[in-house]
Amino acid sequence: MSKPKVLIQIDPDSHASTFDSMVAIDSGIDHLLCHSNVTADQVESLVHGAMFTRGPQDLHQTALFFGGSDVAKTELLLVAAKNCFFGPMRVSILADPNGSNTTAAAAVICAQRHGTLAGKTITVLAGTGPVGQRIAQIVAGPATQNESAPTIRVCSRRIEKAQEVCNELAKRVEGNFVPTQSGSPDEALAATAGAEVVFAAGAAGVELLPAAWSEMPGSPAVAVDLNAVPPTGIAGIQVMDSGERRGNAYCFGAIGVGGLKMKIHKRAVSRLFDTNDQVLEIEEIYRLGVEVESNN
Ligand code: NAP
Repeated sequence: MSKPKVLIQIDPDSHASTFDSMVAIDSGIDHLLCHSNVTADQVESLVHGAMFTRGPQDLHQTALFFGGSDVAKTELLLVAAKNCFFGPMRVSILADPNGSNTTAAAAVICAQRHGTLAGKTITVLAGTGPVGQRIAQIVAGPATQNESAPTIRVCSRRIEKAQEVCNELAKRVEGNFVPTQSGSPDEALAATAGAEVVFAAGAAGVELLPAAWSEMPGSPAVAVDLNAVPPTGIAGIQVMDSGERRGNAYCFGAIGVGGLKMKIHKRAVSRLFDTNDQVLEIEEIYRLGVEVESNN
């Protein structure tokens, strides 16, 4: 008889994300073990508890989920966990700190419903946060285009920050990343002018792009906003938008993207239990998202 499916949720926050716990339970696991306030030096004993309690033939029934609101802290935990594995002694891992990987994957896939991103000019407003950076990484990555590379404007209120993020992105994936200043509404309009697709990945409750964007000559054909807290990040987009046509653009709001994000998150959790050697991070999660989308 197969062992029950156990997911161990590891989170650096003082309270592990209830959102992540709920999604895990709804994804068909049998038991959830939840650890909060976890620091890198504590990871080894947690991972050893997962690795050494079941024989190699049953290790695929145990998996780790890494969440947390501070992406940098979660990344340290992830590195510590991967360092614990050797040979067949490993369990599968899913990383989705603050929902950043699943959200970015869903946002890009929604935009792709209206055409390839290859060769296009793409603006990522607030491209410096966890979600914005991952959108830029996916758009640049080979997973999204095998024709000509897109040009990706990575926007920030501070050009120095945009430059730093572009440098970091370039270490992860080859791409045409263009640091772009977008501190004021006029700068955001200029950053969007001439782009075929605009993503807004700004902090909750902040309008980044004023309504005039949709009246600009050559305005974007697709606009995706991830901020669910009014006002929306792109003026005129509604949170429920899921491909609604507004002006010349197909529009997506945070909840419109959120439906696909939830499906990707659940599929990723259930996929963990197929084998014991998976590491599901941004690229793998995007590819899973493409599978989910094609089965929709
Ligand atoms: P974040 O880290 O909170 O913020 C992203 C960027 O927004 C920051 O790097 C900053 O860029 C800019 N920003 C912060 N405060 C600002 C202000 N007062 N005015 C203008 N810009 C400001 O966001 P995130 O975690 O990457 O998430 C992005 C968005 O996705 C959020 O709105 C979040 O709520 C949403 N989200 C949606 C879902 C979903 O399922 N729909 C899931 C997860 C997250 P600069 O300092 O470089 O300008």
